Amino acid sequence: MLKSSIYPLANPKGVKMECEICQKTAHIMCTQCRVTFYCDVTHQAADWNGIHEKICQLLIPVRMPLPFFSSKKEREHSKEQLVLRQKYLIDLTRTVAQKLLFEGRHEEAIPGALQSMRFASAVYGSLSAELVPSQLLLAEASIGLGRLHEAEEYLSQAQWTMMKATGCINAIQYKLYRNLGLLYTAKCEYDKALWYFADDIYHATRVFGVSDVHAAGGYYHMANVFYKQEKTDVAGSLYSEVTDIWKNFLAELVETEIQKSLWKAGLSSPEPGTSLVDVEDVFDASQKAEAVKILHVIFDMRNQELLVKNGKIGNIAHTLAMLYYLFQDFSKAVKYGELALEDNKMFVHNEKEIATIQRLLTAAKKALSYPGGKGPSPYDWANSC
Ligand SMILES: [Zn+2]
Ligand SMILES: [Zn+2]
Repeated sequence: MLKSSIYPLANPKGVKMECEICQKTAHIMCTQCRVTFYCDVTHQAADWNGIHEKICQLLIPVRMPLPFFSSKKEREHSKEQLVLRQKYLIDLTRTVAQKLLFEGRHEEAIPGALQSMRFASAVYGSLSAELVPSQLLLAEASIGLGRLHEAEEYLSQAQWTMMKATGCINAIQYKLYRNLGLLYTAKCEYDKALWYFADDIYHATRVFGVSDVHAAGGYYHMANVFYKQEKTDVAGSLYSEVTDIWKNFLAELVETEIQKSLWKAGLSSPEPGTSLVDVEDVFDASQKAEAVKILHVIFDMRNQELLVKNGKIGNIAHTLAMLYYLFQDFSKAVKYGELALEDNKMFVHNEKEIATIQRLLTAAKKALSYPGGKGPSPYDWANSC
């Protein structure tokens, strides 16, 4: 819901106010923060739904003029504070935009991506490699909207920035190749697309390691291309690779949560010096959206028998069960867990896998048995052992 009302700009005090979205002369202002302006209500609504709702109040300290400080130390401190806030906003706006892209909400992703680009150029300058992630988000949104010409422009900007940049670009290089792959997929130039996805996987694994979730996206898009080319065997094995990468990643997180619950219940104690990571620290909102998107597409394809179903659907169902367990959506965890168990018992007969699924099902059912299926602690199943 758009909470900020229309507010004609009565007194711009000679300052040229620009629309947040299109940079044309602004006529209205957000009354919640009073530091953001728009040409009309359409652009205000687009910004509000895309990003502004989440950053409205955070923009106030960033956009208000710095107070006057007499000492140099105070001035420097307040400048440092400003940069920290801007960096926080770069991360936040990018995560929001990336999440919306994974959800297929390309139009809504644009305001957040634009905002991240603005903060990145304010902090790092307009030629920095730090702008590339934002350029790639805008390219991806454009591809999703079928605006391929715009996408090409953003991608060549990103390529140019990366060529000129002196800083570390390894961690973002794979994303450039992924977007080039998506662009050529959209153009139905499949051979070129596959070539770029191979580069995407190469760079992602070089930086993050083989079998890291950063590489899963590359395999997934490559599988989609093979599927379009009706090479279902190749596509199927690549989809399995994607499933296995996510499955191993989620299995570790689920195990971590179980360990924590054992500590809490006093049933085991941590080795001195061990500290278990927080799920939220390694699995952010955009990765969660990516997992939901990719894993459900693969599940649906197997379920509709567009790919081999029997003996294969168990693996993807198990992965989804773990995902929903971590999301604390225990009824879905049970639903997919039971499906995984059934497929495994009928077609695969892997005892170790069956035991793992049963353990997860026990945990999920225990959590479901609490009022509302949500508490007291979702991982409190240790008490039942
Ligand atoms: Zn506008
Ligand atoms: Zn506002």
